[in-house]
Amino acid sequence: MRLTLLRRAVHAIIMGPPGSGKGTVSSRIIRDFDMQHLSSGDLLRAEIAEESTHGVRAKQYIEEGKLVPDALVVELVLSQIQKISTNTSWLLDGFPRTIEQAKELSKKEKLDCVINLDVPFNTIRERLSGRWTHLSSGRVYNDGFNPPKVPGVDDITGEPLVQRNDDKPETVQKRLETYQLQTAPLLDFYGEKGLLHSYSGTKTDEIWPKVKEFLNSIMPQGNRSRL
Ligand code: ATP
Ligand code: MG
Repeated sequence: MRLTLLRRAVHAIIMGPPGSGKGTVSSRIIRDFDMQHLSSGDLLRAEIAEESTHGVRAKQYIEEGKLVPDALVVELVLSQIQKISTNTSWLLDGFPRTIEQAKELSKKEKLDCVINLDVPFNTIRERLSGRWTHLSSGRVYNDGFNPPKVPGVDDITGEPLVQRNDDKPETVQKRLETYQLQTAPLLDFYGEKGLLHSYSGTKTDEIWPKVKEFLNSIMPQGNRSRL
């Protein structure tokens, strides 16, 4: 008898305060698991770079450390999710960030799990001030614990790294407050649905093995051997 194993696509969210390492953990997830990564921050920055209508509107909010209006991000992110084939797994990073966004998402998509990176705010303040970003790819480095091979230069493309305007200390404080007020309530929202998987630590290298172990349990062999 032949057993046909059909792997269903996994729909996951990665959450955590700004600077909690969502970008770094996401890049490890997509390296080891067959999932498509969608980052709302990267999508917004691409719109800003193109000077699209959405980008021009979003820019002012981002630079002040505020959230972009729900309707704008919901449209941007949901339209990208809909382009992904139904048998491809995806990982949402930075979205949803409000209860309203989570409700809009749940009207369109079924979720399997929410991975929460639980990192203390003090660790985050130190981290963001040393953070360098390669704008076109979204790759991030940190002076302290993940430096580029050559200072100020992206490892892969050799292009210059920049400090994001919103990584300035006063904006960082504002982003943490925004998180506490608008995004932290999502932890209860998803907790009550039984979807929340929280991992605590002050270093990404401490948190990553726990996230990987969890994903291995729901996606054996990285979900690569689809039949
Ligand atoms: P990190 O990715 O390092 O955790 P972060 O999450 O604060 O940092 P991004 O996800 O890159 O940064 O987002 C940058 C900015 O884009 C946010 O501060 C916010 O202004 C805006 N933004 C991103 N996603 C959303 C969203 N879902 N809703 C509203 N605004 C958003
Ligand atoms: Mg991000």
